[in-house]
Amino acid sequence: MSAENTSKIISKFGGTSMGDATCMLRSAEVALQQKSSVVVVSATSGTTNDLILLGQVAEKGKKEDVQVILEKIKQRHLKIASDLNFKDDELSPLQSHLQELEDMARGILLLKDCSLKAKDALMSFGELLSSRLFVKAMSLVLQKNEQTNRHVFWFHAGDILITDNDFSKAKPQVQDMKEKALSLKGAINRSQTGKGDVYITQGFIGKSLDGFTTTLGRGGSDYSAALFAEALEADVLEIWTDVAGIATTDPRITNKAKGISEISFKEASEMAVFGAKVLHPATLLPAMREDIPVFVGSSFDINLGGTWVKRTVDFYPPVRALALRKNQVLLTLTTPEMLYTHGFLYMVFKIFNDHKVSVDSITTSEVSVAMTLDDSTLLNKSLMDELSRLGDLQVEEGLSLVSLIGNDLHKTSGLAKKIFETIPDINVRVICHGASKHNFCFLVDQTKDKEVVQRLHQKFIEEV
Ligand code: ASP
Ligand code: MG
Repeated sequence: MSAENTSKIISKFGGTSMGDATCMLRSAEVALQQKSSVVVVSATSGTTNDLILLGQVAEKGKKEDVQVILEKIKQRHLKIASDLNFKDDELSPLQSHLQELEDMARGILLLKDCSLKAKDALMSFGELLSSRLFVKAMSLVLQKNEQTNRHVFWFHAGDILITDNDFSKAKPQVQDMKEKALSLKGAINRSQTGKGDVYITQGFIGKSLDGFTTTLGRGGSDYSAALFAEALEADVLEIWTDVAGIATTDPRITNKAKGISEISFKEASEMAVFGAKVLHPATLLPAMREDIPVFVGSSFDINLGGTWVKRTVDFYPPVRALALRKNQVLLTLTTPEMLYTHGFLYMVFKIFNDHKVSVDSITTSEVSVAMTLDDSTLLNKSLMDELSRLGDLQVEEGLSLVSLIGNDLHKTSGLAKKIFETIPDINVRVICHGASKHNFCFLVDQTKDKEVVQRLHQKFIEEV
């Protein structure tokens, strides 16, 4: 058997690719054409937001609002089921999820309490429902293509995707996952690529070792798919979304943004962390660990091509892309006690660690340290209080982090000159350079961020 015949392909479809029956059928055609063995799906677009709102209104005891949202979710999914010609007996898994969802909403309503644990359970229904619908879409597509000898199986992601019980941002337990994945891996290995059964599961959700439903955090389906790919030792991971891969910058910032055909894992991770919206930032970690190439494309038109993210690529330009991360704050902590002492930064970062908050970039001087973070951090009052106790804390809001992403930036002479010559009239706050050879970033006022990216894009990408 050639390597081609034994490739194991995991495909993930996002919420817009699951939007309605037409989208689901189109996505199922993609899965068929791509010879996917395992398909990981997101909730239908908008459903996770509705479920979060459901939890909020139930917690406040707003019975009528709960009913309205439940009905909306129910009708959305039953409409897709009817468009996919579900027969009565095929409806029962869908109906039992809807019933369970209703029961759970009622429980929250009565208790007026929606803990993170309950919220995870509530949110899981988005993916549970969409994956049930997708089973039917996939079966219809197999039938249409006369491949009825192939079966479509559904499984709960939590049968394999084991996490800790840090609800709402659960951490996967990779070793446990590998053990749980063994039998599915065996089944896939025994079949020929594109000829075997198709397994449908959910993104975003998992189960803790003690059996409770958990989620990996918003947008976590990409990450789930990568974790499945790792546990199953897949050959390729495909992320199907509504844009044809990763672009040199967000096309909403400039229409000159171009698709990137190949990018290294390291550059793509910098892009995801520093603001590019196409991939969830954690997605590439499992793919990097197992060296699994990742393809990002549009399920709406696979002929548009997409982006391959791989360990090694053919071409390493100094600047490949520009990312923009909005809603940043700059915290500057100043204290003379930092002078000639040790342990100050330790104390600062211990506080961030205790609060599980990540800092994006830092610069230090002898008596001060400046850090950029997401502005949501300001809502964490006890974190802010603890920091203030260490010294004088200044907060600057309304900032955006602009990053140039590429290769060997630390060795590119004249880079900073070229960057700042392009934006001589713009006030730049913190600059971070040198920590990564793939990233040069700085803060600007958010009212100027798009303009900065447009000018840098012209200079570093359009003009080369
Ligand atoms: N449905 C989840 C969300 O909207 C996960 C995902 O779509 O990746 O956050
Ligand atoms: Mg999504």
